[in-house]
Amino acid sequence: MNNNLNKLFENSKLVQSKLKNDRNIIIEKIIPKDDHILFTGKIVGEDKEYDVELQLFDLNIPIDVNNCKVKVFCSCPSFQFRNEKYLNEVDALADGHEVREYEKKTSKKSMNPDKLPSVCKHIYQFALKLEEIGNLKNLK
Ligand SMILES: [Zn+2]
Repeated sequence: MNNNLNKLFENSKLVQSKLKNDRNIIIEKIIPKDDHILFTGKIVGEDKEYDVELQLFDLNIPIDVNNCKVKVFCSCPSFQFRNEKYLNEVDALADGHEVREYEKKTSKKSMNPDKLPSVCKHIYQFALKLEEIGNLKNLK
């Protein structure tokens, strides 16, 4: 399976109600590693803030997201419930993070019944911001 960012976003539109929001996005670090670039940031809302991470396995900025393996993480509950398990199954959960266990408290059906590897709106927003400042290209 091809886990580029556009593919994850495409899946996310089937899993999330919406991907857009209007929170503040703070880019914290852009760190080149041996085989990828690590981008970290925070998404700040009125009373909450979440940590986001993108690992893109290409060292040439701007990174063409269509041809680039990606691993992602967000600390929000939506990512925990809907996304991380299925990302982990296709090796797209960011290094250093494990699937967080949670107790199912309701009998509602799964929020991701088709088990699609997908992302939360925070990662989408973060990637848009990275494209805006010239680090990524070809986001859909
Ligand atoms: Zn999130």
